[in-house]
Amino acid sequence: MIEERFDAIVVGAGMAGNAAALTLAQRGLKVLQLERGEYSGSKNVQGAILYADMLEKLIPDFREDAPLERHLIEQRFWMMDDNSHTGLHYRSDDFNEEKPNRYTIIRAQFDKWFSKKVQEAGAVVLCETTVTELLQDARGKVIGVRTDRKNGKVGADVVVLAEGVSGLLGTRAGLRSRPDPNKVALAVKEMHFLPQETLEARFNLKGDEGAVIEAVGTISEGMTGMGFIYTNRESISLGIGCLVSDFERTGQTPYGLLEKFKSHPSVRALIEGSEVKEYAAHLIPEGGYKAIPQLFGDGWVVVGDAAQLNNAVHREGSNLAMTSGRLAAEAIFQIKSRRDPMTKENLALYRKMLEDSFVMKDLKKYRDMPDLLHIRAQNFFLTYPQLVSKAMKDFVRVDGVTKAEKEKATLRSFLAARSLKGIIGDAFNFARAWR
Ligand SMILES: Cc1cc2nc3c(=O)[nH]c(=O)nc-3n(C[C@H](O)[C@H](O)[C@H](O)COP(=O)(O)OP(=O)(O)OC[C@H]3O[C@@H](n4cnc5c(N)ncnc54)[C@H](O)[C@@H]3O)c2cc1C
Repeated sequence: MIEERFDAIVVGAGMAGNAAALTLAQRGLKVLQLERGEYSGSKNVQGAILYADMLEKLIPDFREDAPLERHLIEQRFWMMDDNSHTGLHYRSDDFNEEKPNRYTIIRAQFDKWFSKKVQEAGAVVLCETTVTELLQDARGKVIGVRTDRKNGKVGADVVVLAEGVSGLLGTRAGLRSRPDPNKVALAVKEMHFLPQETLEARFNLKGDEGAVIEAVGTISEGMTGMGFIYTNRESISLGIGCLVSDFERTGQTPYGLLEKFKSHPSVRALIEGSEVKEYAAHLIPEGGYKAIPQLFGDGWVVVGDAAQLNNAVHREGSNLAMTSGRLAAEAIFQIKSRRDPMTKENLALYRKMLEDSFVMKDLKKYRDMPDLLHIRAQNFFLTYPQLVSKAMKDFVRVDGVTKAEKEKATLRSFLAARSLKGIIGDAFNFARAWR
C-alpha cells in the first residue's frame, strides 16, 4: 500500500534532478527527491565545466556562495600525433568579466551545495535511497516509485526521471530501450594536484583565471573520442573518453588510453610532479538528437543524461541537464496550476518547451555529426591528425629543401593516405553535418 503521496518525485540528485527539484519546490509543490549516493554528487563525474547562464536561471546569485574553481579565459584545441600537437588557441581578457560565463567546478562539492539549495527551497531530499522500480497502474500510468527502504513505496502525480545516462529504471519499466553502445562514450578521469603557483605558471594564469585544453588525434587510436585537461584551483582534471562500441571492437582499454594521453610530451610537461588523488569512470550520452528517447508519458518525464540530452560536438551536458530539469518542472507546475492531470497528452508541454529552447535546437543542428564521426573515425581521429602534424613539421623545419618541394611532398602524403575524392567527400560531409 502506498502510504505517502507527493506532487512530484524526482529520481536522482545530479544536475538535472537538482534543477527539477529546486524549480518544483520554489513553485510550492510537495517534492520528494531520491538519490542512491551517500550525498548529492557522490556518484557524479564531470570534467567539469559549468555554464553560468543555465545556473543563473535557477539561482541568480549563485556566485555568492557556490564552490567554483576558476573562471575560464582560455580555450585550446589540440590535434595530436604521437609526439606533437597542432593547436588552435583562444584567450581573451574579455572573459575576466564581472559575471564570468564558464567556470571549472568539482562535482562532489558543487552538487552538495546545489542540493542544499534544493532542501532550503522545501524539497524532501533522501540520500542513500535507491529507486528500484517505477509503480504503474493497470493502464501503465506511472503512479509512484518503490525504493530499497523498508515499506519503500511512495506515490506521486508525476515522476521526474533524472537518473543519469544508463536510465535503468526507465528501461526496466519499458519506457525506453537501453542506450546503444554506438551512442554512449566511456570516459575516465583523474585529478592531478599541484601547488597553485606551479599550475598558474604552467598555464599562464593569475588569480582565478582558468584554461581548458581539448584534444583529438592519435590518443584515441582511431576511435571516436577526445581528451581533456581542465584547470581547477590547485588541481588539473584530465581525462579521455571513446565510444563504448569502439572499445568493444578494438579491445583497447580506457585506462590504457589515459596512460598514453598522460605520457604524450605535450601533456607530460603540464602534469609533471603532480599527485593523483582521484580516478573515476563514467558514461556520456553521445548519440545526439537521433538518440533521444520518448521524453514523457502518463505520469512521467525524463530529463538530463537519462534523456540523452548531451551536445558532444560542443562538450556540453550539465547545462542541457539543468535546462531540461527546469523546463520539465515548469511544465509540471503549469499543468498542476490548471488542476489538469499528469497525462501523456498534458506532459507533452515539456517536449514543446524543450523544442523551443537551445537544447533541442542545438542537438537538431548537429543531428548527423555523431554518425559521421563514428563511421569516419579512422580518418577524422587518426589519419588527418597525423597528416596535419607531418605537414606542420615540414612547414616549420628549415632544411634547404625548397618550399615548392615541401608543398608537393605534403600534397603527395595526403593523396597517398586518402584519394582526392575521399578527402573532398570527408570535407563535404563534415561541412554538411555542421550546417
Ligand atoms: C568525464 C566526463 C566529463 C564531462 N565534462 C563535462 C563538462 O565539462 N561540462 C558539461 O557540461 N558536462 C560534462 N559532462 C556531462 C555531464 O556530467 C552530464 O551531462 C551531467 O552530469 C548530467 O546530469 P544528470 O543529472 O542528468 O545525470 P547525473 O549527474 O549522472 O546524475 C544522475 C543521478 O541519479 C542518481 N541515480 C541513478 N539511478 C538512481 C536510482 N535508481 N535511484 C536513486 N538515484 C539514482 C545517481 O546516483 C546520480 O546522482 C561530462 C561527463 C563526463 C562523464
